[in-house]
Amino acid sequence: MNNFTYQSLVKSLENSATEMQYSQTAYALISVDGDPTAEIGKEEAGEQNIYVRELGLSLAKRGCQVDIFTRREDPNQEEIVQLAPGCRTIRLLAGPTEFISRNNLFEYLPEFVEAWLNFQQRTKRNYALIHTNYWLSGWVGLKLKAKLGLPQIHTYHSIGAVKYRDVQNPPQIASIRHYVEKAILEQTDCVIATTPQEAEDLRQLISQDGRVKIIPCGIDTTHFGSISKETARQQLGIASDEQIILYVGRFDPRKGVETLIRACTYLLHPFKLYLVGGSCEDEIDFREQQHIQNLVKTLGLAEVTVFTGRISQALLPAYYAAGDVCVVPSYYEPFGLVAIEAMAARTPVIASEVGGLQHTVVHGETGLLVPPRNPNALAIAIRNLLADPVLRQSNGNAAYNWVQSRFSTQAVTAQIYELYQSLTLGTFVQEIIQTKKLTPNLERQIQNLLKSKALKPHEIKALEKLIDSFSNGTVQWVNG
Ligand code: UDP
Repeated sequence: MNNFTYQSLVKSLENSATEMQYSQTAYALISVDGDPTAEIGKEEAGEQNIYVRELGLSLAKRGCQVDIFTRREDPNQEEIVQLAPGCRTIRLLAGPTEFISRNNLFEYLPEFVEAWLNFQQRTKRNYALIHTNYWLSGWVGLKLKAKLGLPQIHTYHSIGAVKYRDVQNPPQIASIRHYVEKAILEQTDCVIATTPQEAEDLRQLISQDGRVKIIPCGIDTTHFGSISKETARQQLGIASDEQIILYVGRFDPRKGVETLIRACTYLLHPFKLYLVGGSCEDEIDFREQQHIQNLVKTLGLAEVTVFTGRISQALLPAYYAAGDVCVVPSYYEPFGLVAIEAMAARTPVIASEVGGLQHTVVHGETGLLVPPRNPNALAIAIRNLLADPVLRQSNGNAAYNWVQSRFSTQAVTAQIYELYQSLTLGTFVQEIIQTKKLTPNLERQIQNLLKSKALKPHEIKALEKLIDSFSNGTVQWVNG
């Protein structure tokens, strides 16, 4: 019998572990209504399209094979687009090749399932896992899971029960959507909630059953951290010694801009307040914007307040970098992208202690958390940071590092990849068990091992080698 120890086996196999099995693994991202190559800002193209594209590209950079499945919306669109080595968009035929709004897509989903299965059979591609996005793709995933037994992960992007909570006459599709969203939570292997608030909503409004893991949305940190404060101020015509308080976002009463304006009346030293954002289309937003403009005049802040209007994503990094402090005074905030974007630009954030902001801003390290709707407390926080350039700089640097480590696309992909692996390892070992000739005793031992703990990739590699050795007869099992 060969002499070996489990530890040395693990060590010797660790180096080859990644490329041997997992780099070859193919994953299917499904986003029926969100083509990753669509122009952002186009009808119904937004956060979901970016999410699947960035995730696909980032997984491919790690050596995975990723196919992103979406629906063909135009007869001139190519079926397959190679986004990068290892990452493709596959456009399937389901319904007419034209834009169909999300609320009218449900009837075409069975066609999408058929087209997916045909594609898989035609190309002989084996997928280790499917990751579905939004409830429509979730439904497709449940069908594929039932047929093929693949592990399924789901990201909701939005939840019907939240969206229609205060809507008087929800569309007809709302009840079907709720039913499907419940089935997804209860039947998929894991749901990714992007915020603790979303996880809570899922539990309270959808179901107590099913597994939920919180993995935040990532942002392109290099984009938001691409410009220095000096250059940004030169570009925007802001003097280097001016103290800039920055707000970025919509004019929605819940965003708490009024609290910020009132807080500014308590500040004694000279400052400028930049209000970045604005909307003319949405009635509530527009009314709020007018209300804020009037308030600024009434409170004598017109001279020091700049309303920039809506700024494009391309120009936003300069505003974030130019600010001495970015204030997020919301009364409610599910995630709070602005806080993360500001921190990526090394600007400390003062935010209300509500919703997702409690988890994105680290009090005393990357900025400060203050009670919502409290102009006095907010004014004290702003004063403390504006008065102390050393503290501002150290908070800004810590904010930058914090966002890199937690909210960058790479950091988020690493967490999702780990989740993929934890779900595919079991399947992988079962395959080994089925293909090798094992003694009933050894098979039982392995099954028990699988039940007892979540195995890490290197442990699986060791197990694989061990099974090989047993099958070849180079190692023998000794009872007792
Ligand atoms: N934003 C923008 N231009 C502006 C103001 C805001 O592009 O003039 C973007 C900002 O970069 C952020 C988003 O709008 O990504 C706002 O996201 P957040 O989650 O903070 O708030 P929401 O509007 O989703 O409630």
